[in-house]
Amino acid sequence: MSTRHDYDYLVIGSGFGGSVAALRLAEKGHRVAVLEQGRHWTPDTLPRTNWQLARWLWKPLLGLRGFFSLRFFRHVVVLHGNAVGGGSITYANTLLVPPREVWRQGQWAGLLNWDAVMPAHYATAMRMLGVTRNRREGPADGRLRIASEEMGLGDAYRLTDVGVYFGGDGEAPGTPHPDPYFDGDGPPRASCIGCGGCMVGCLHGAKNTLDLNYLYLARKRGAELHAETRVTRIRPLDADGNAGYEVAVRQGFGLRARRKRLRCAGIVMAASSLGTQDLLLRAKDRGDLPALSAHLGRRVRTNAESLIGVRFPGSDVDLSTGIAIGSGVQLDAHTHVEATRYPAGSDAMGLISTLMARGKSDWLLTMIGTALRHPRTFWRTLRPAGWARESMILLCMQTIDGHLDMRLERRWFWPFRKQLASHGPRIPTSIPQANAFAMRLAERFGGTALTSLPEMLFGIPMTAHCMGGAGMGATADSGVCDAWGRVHGYRNLLVCDGSLLSSNLGVNPSLTITALAEHVMSGVAPLAATEPAVAR
Ligand SMILES: Cc1cc2nc3c(=O)[nH]c(=O)nc-3n(C[C@H](O)[C@H](O)[C@H](O)COP(=O)(O)OP(=O)(O)OC[C@H]3O[C@@H](n4cnc5c(N)ncnc54)[C@H](O)[C@@H]3O)c2cc1C
Ligand code: SF4
Repeated sequence: MSTRHDYDYLVIGSGFGGSVAALRLAEKGHRVAVLEQGRHWTPDTLPRTNWQLARWLWKPLLGLRGFFSLRFFRHVVVLHGNAVGGGSITYANTLLVPPREVWRQGQWAGLLNWDAVMPAHYATAMRMLGVTRNRREGPADGRLRIASEEMGLGDAYRLTDVGVYFGGDGEAPGTPHPDPYFDGDGPPRASCIGCGGCMVGCLHGAKNTLDLNYLYLARKRGAELHAETRVTRIRPLDADGNAGYEVAVRQGFGLRARRKRLRCAGIVMAASSLGTQDLLLRAKDRGDLPALSAHLGRRVRTNAESLIGVRFPGSDVDLSTGIAIGSGVQLDAHTHVEATRYPAGSDAMGLISTLMARGKSDWLLTMIGTALRHPRTFWRTLRPAGWARESMILLCMQTIDGHLDMRLERRWFWPFRKQLASHGPRIPTSIPQANAFAMRLAERFGGTALTSLPEMLFGIPMTAHCMGGAGMGATADSGVCDAWGRVHGYRNLLVCDGSLLSSNLGVNPSLTITALAEHVMSGVAPLAATEPAVAR
């Protein structure tokens, strides 16, 4: 590190990519700080249900400083996390290895021999995140299994691989345990009680969130963590980043916020797909990083996702128990469906549920028809109260490729500052095979199939898996980064998060982001072997 620098590396964002970067850079002897706009959550501060909107939702302008964010675009509604630990605080623990084909499609195909490179990084990621097979098959999982078997898909059903601590064999749920993962170097834990609360934050120390593994160990090895610190601008100190970078930050919120500038030799962009695109597009727009590839913001993928469900009004079975995503079934070569849940009492997502129908006009007729003919069922299906207890959410994904582009634009409703805006052909909203499966489940167990209001009314799918936008290419003419996450045209500027993903995975992306971050970090030299970034 030069004396002109406050740090060797600044890591922007503390999610899957950022946490890996923090630990590996600290282990390599670099002086590193993680800058995270979200708050640090503990079981004492996490919300009890998602009706505690100020602790659940992230919309700082409205005074909401939770950890779960919904961002509305013309093509898609993106769900993501903002917290120390990034999306891991609100995610549903599912950590799956995608089929090998995904490395042979998209922009990264052929850039490296991925079949040789990635297995070791997946193994490390799985060990660090404590991936194991789910041991709490809840009632919703049981229904998914029965429906799959009855449709001849019994072999395609499986309990999910997840990052949850289930305790030793025969141990009672909730049993405290000294660190079970890192030879005593990690924090004490307690085993999962199957409360279904993972997406509202685990109150029991059983969910393997990043603040309990990668980030925890990074801080022990000297990495600094600055929570509630938002990066607003990045600028190289010379033309190509050879002399390092200056990063402008805003610490705190509202009138008490303080502005600061930090200097570093290198930057790791780990602000998530949307966050990294936002910062880099602004840097290009202002002329701070003019050499960034024209591919920035292109090929943003959504895992071709659709969120549907089935509600069983008045169910005497509590469908909210188990873990957030307990099981899944592969419906066909391209379509994967997972049984998902919120904990009892966390019914806020019920506000955007509606009856499933084939299209908008059919939906209107279905709503009116059901309201008139079965007013009681209509009311009991759509009222938010009891939604989590009585519903099976079905998270559906496809490997079929489809993408959109993101650009910075001034919008008519907010002309003060440019915003990310989506462009490109519409993403298909409904997955017919998945809808048919939901109808079948509804018929079999006496429920009503549901979908989300944005999907039904505006043809806008919801996704928790926004990926890409700063994808790979051999040169700046074909991608933003090279196969090691190094941004073309700039020195020591790395991308290490979901924005680097360069094909549709068809499964939940966090394990792949973690493994890819391990790969990117394996390309960073330890301090002793690094040439000084700039002359002292
Ligand atoms: C409800 C829900 C459930 C999910 N379930 C699963 C699941 O079961 N399995 C799975 O694989 N994936 C799941 N996901 C998706 C998963 O959370 C993301 O894919 C993953 O977190 C992305 O990792 P990342 O490293 O790219 O960024 P993130 O984990 O999103 O971390 C980025 C961090 O950067 C911070 N940041 C952004 N901009 C700035 C800035 N300017 N300055 C400072 N900090 C900034 C953000 O606050 C955030 O904390 C789920 C997501 C949601 C919302
Ligand atoms: S089911 Fe409950 S105890 Fe288990 S990981 Fe999720 S929130 Fe924690």
